[in-house]
Amino acid sequence: LTRLYGPLTALSNVRVDVMSALVSFDRVFEVLDLKPGIEEKPDAVAIPAGSGRLEFRDVHFRYPSADEVSLATLEDVTALDRTENAPVLRGVDFTVEPGQMVALVGPSGAGKSTTSMLVSRVYDVTEGAVRVGGVDVRDATLESLRDTIGVVTQDSHLFHETIAENLRYARPEATEEQMWEALRGAQVAELVRSLPEGLDTVVGERGYRFSGGEKQRIAIARLLLKHPSIVILDEATAHLDSESEAAVQRALTVALEGRTALVIAHRLSTVRDADQILVLDDGRIVERGRHSELVTAGGLYAELYRTQFAVSDSPGMPYAEATEQ
Ligand code: ATP
Repeated sequence: LTRLYGPLTALSNVRVDVMSALVSFDRVFEVLDLKPGIEEKPDAVAIPAGSGRLEFRDVHFRYPSADEVSLATLEDVTALDRTENAPVLRGVDFTVEPGQMVALVGPSGAGKSTTSMLVSRVYDVTEGAVRVGGVDVRDATLESLRDTIGVVTQDSHLFHETIAENLRYARPEATEEQMWEALRGAQVAELVRSLPEGLDTVVGERGYRFSGGEKQRIAIARLLLKHPSIVILDEATAHLDSESEAAVQRALTVALEGRTALVIAHRLSTVRDADQILVLDDGRIVERGRHSELVTAGGLYAELYRTQFAVSDSPGMPYAEATEQ
């Protein structure tokens, strides 16, 4: 029996090791905003350090359907046609010059999140190309893509580890001084300093529980440590109270300074400041320009401005600033 159990126990140990390896692999990729499934080509090239130009060239995209792979092996093309997801992006073409801020706006379901996900290769384009620093992201080394792009979403994730460890995911060799500097930039240094264990405070369910806005600011500190030249930001802040929202906004101003930014915009101040606004509707860019031009043009943007950006005045809502003059 022991002869039988011995190898079995060993096997289950192996399984545990593999599982924990998978977990940590996943975690690292989650923080670095790259999916474990994506592959680096054998002849991949590095995106030149500090590249800030982002280009979408005639990008078409549809989400892969769950059973597409198995159906693709069948010869019944009509069956494949029936299960294909509809195209979500249809010929999206734009350039963000180094240091510019471009705002993506549009009705719900227009394709804004999908567009942002193609930059960090959560998905790859179906047709066309996304280029960073002139390099097609599919041809780039994953390391250079990771170094160049930083993503801040609404639900930034913190691990059940110390604050220092959470920050070091962005930059393993970061010194304490650099961490404090990033926390200061992210408007959260004071809070961390007030905790008895400071940087060594464990966060999460069984540790210190940050509020939504505080978590977002720790994520911004991570971004500041990482120092990417391109930032992809989903700025919805609906779940934050107005004080927290103001702090997140200050932190983002620091984080975006001098960087190329593609922002899924929900705030009036962002669209007003944007070098270019892209209005997406049903997977196409239907209007582009600056805030005042687009308001004057009287098209979809003008309507969105009236219905989204200029209606709500309740504190803590994403369009709260709309009532400011
Ligand atoms: P919102 O402002 O509501 O977040 P959005 O402009 O960001 O919308 P996307 O989330 O990019 O829009 O979605 C664009 C379209 O793609 C929608 O029709 C959506 O239903 C579809 N879609 C999103 N994710 C998937 C998925 N994983 N599989 C299939 N279709 C998807």
